[in-house]
Amino acid sequence: MKNTGLLVLLFISMTVWAGEPVKNNFTTMELNHIRVRTPGLFDGHTSFSIRLDSIKDSEYCFPLPGGKVISAYGARRGHSGTDIKTKPNDTIRCAFDGVVRMAKSYAAYGNVVVVRHENGLESIYSHNSRNLVKPGDVVKAGEAVGLTGRTGRATTEHLHLEFRVDGCHFNPDLIFDMKNRTLRKRELICTKAGHGVTVKPNVTLKK
Ligand SMILES: [Zn+2]
Repeated sequence: MKNTGLLVLLFISMTVWAGEPVKNNFTTMELNHIRVRTPGLFDGHTSFSIRLDSIKDSEYCFPLPGGKVISAYGARRGHSGTDIKTKPNDTIRCAFDGVVRMAKSYAAYGNVVVVRHENGLESIYSHNSRNLVKPGDVVKAGEAVGLTGRTGRATTEHLHLEFRVDGCHFNPDLIFDMKNRTLRKRELICTKAGHGVTVKPNVTLKK
C-alpha cells in the first residue's frame, strides 16, 4: 500500500515523459540480465524522444559527484560505458528517479545495479564494492545505490556508468557533460535501427 503514492507520481511523470510507467513486477530475465528490452517502450512506433530539457536540477544527479573520467565510452574496444573515479567506497548516486530492476553480481560487471527510469532510460552502476539497493526498490535522483569498488573486471576502484535504451548502450556523454557534471538539457531521439537503437540529440531544438 505504501507504494501507491509513488506509483501515482510515476504515472503523472509518464504524461510528461515518453514510455510506460515503471512497474516493479520484473520478469526473471529482467532481474538477472543487463541487456534486456523494456516492454512497451516504442509502443508500435519507430522512435520516441527523451526530454532531458524538461528535467529540473532537483530531478537529476551526476552519479559520482566530484568524479573524473578515466576512460570514455568506446575508448577501449567494446567499452560500453564511461569510467569515473573518485576514491574507494565513495557513494554512487542514482541519476534520475526510477525503480531498481537488477542488483547482483554479474560477470565482468561485478556488483552491479540497474535502474529503470520512467523516461525510457536505464542506468547501470558497476564494479561496486557494495550494492545498497535491491530489485523493486523505488529510488529518487541522488539516492545512494552503491559504493565504488573494483569487483568484476576492474583494475582500480571506479564507477563504470552505462546508459541504455531498450537494452542498447550508448555514450553517457549524451546525457551528462562529464567535465561539468551537469545534465545536457535537450531532447534525445531514440530510433529503432535493425536489432538496435540509435540515440541522437535533436539538433534542430538546440539552443
Ligand atoms: Zn568501464
